[in-house]
Amino acid sequence: MTSARADGRLPLTIVGGFLGAGKSTWLRHQLSAGAFADHAVVVNEAAETPIDNLLLARARRLETLAAGCACCEGRAALVALLRGLCDRAWKDGIAGVVLETSGLADPAGIAAAVAGDPVLARRIAIARVISLVDGLNGALQLAAESLARAQAEAADTLVLTKAGMAEQSALARLTATLRRLNPVAEVVATERGAPARLPDGAAAPYRLPELAAAAPIRPRRLRIGAEAGWAALSTWLSALLVARGDDVVRVKGVVATPAGRLLIQSVRQRVQPPEILPPDDAGVAGPPPEVGTLVLLGRGIDEDLLERSWRRFGG
Ligand SMILES: [Zn+2]
Repeated sequence: MTSARADGRLPLTIVGGFLGAGKSTWLRHQLSAGAFADHAVVVNEAAETPIDNLLLARARRLETLAAGCACCEGRAALVALLRGLCDRAWKDGIAGVVLETSGLADPAGIAAAVAGDPVLARRIAIARVISLVDGLNGALQLAAESLARAQAEAADTLVLTKAGMAEQSALARLTATLRRLNPVAEVVATERGAPARLPDGAAAPYRLPELAAAAPIRPRRLRIGAEAGWAALSTWLSALLVARGDDVVRVKGVVATPAGRLLIQSVRQRVQPPEILPPDDAGVAGPPPEVGTLVLLGRGIDEDLLERSWRRFGG
């Protein structure tokens, strides 16, 4: 993988991709397979509830950047964190940095943040931009979201995730669409983080419509209470997604249940099966996940209305 550069600058690998593309799963697999040896891993979530760090629990030198999306409102925090890593790199034997961006980040904004800082410009070099593309939902995201296109266009490597679950003809068309958007990127496929085959043969790319400027996707937080019942919550969440599913692109939260802490998440209209989190946070870097808070990423979502809707439901 990347190693120390002749000019002494620390290589930075940016791992991005749209919400739900499977960045944490892929990165976890890469780390356990020995990639990015001696790298510091920085995880940036768009919302302030750190959950991905639980999934990356065993990564050494894990830093959580919880000050907002690193390409926009969290830029200053990213610069400060990278400056700190540069200062410690020699003493701590850090050979490079991997940044897992939030699903809302445009890698170009992160590159601009590094290039625009006089200290980092001398000490960090962007080694590679890796964008993950959801093999199941990627075509819809490219059609609807200009951010998804920007992420694909900025990549040196495009990683198609969930390749084993996707229909092969659809995957071939998605691959062709990506090659049209970004003819110079290397395209590879994975399934649950492990390498997978790309479909053979030529396919017609999807026609991507012109996109009007849309309101940006922003995180919204909802206190649901540590003891919120899972049944009530999932019913309310399903109703919300039926009503506002086009605007709510992602939901993540942790609730306490008699069985343990339950991680709840949705991608678009689909609520994922809940996942029981490990009972303790020993060995987990960064702050523990906040139990009883739901984070929604969406457009034009009013936090007060959200709160009232949940209370009315009986939360
Ligand atoms: Zn951003």
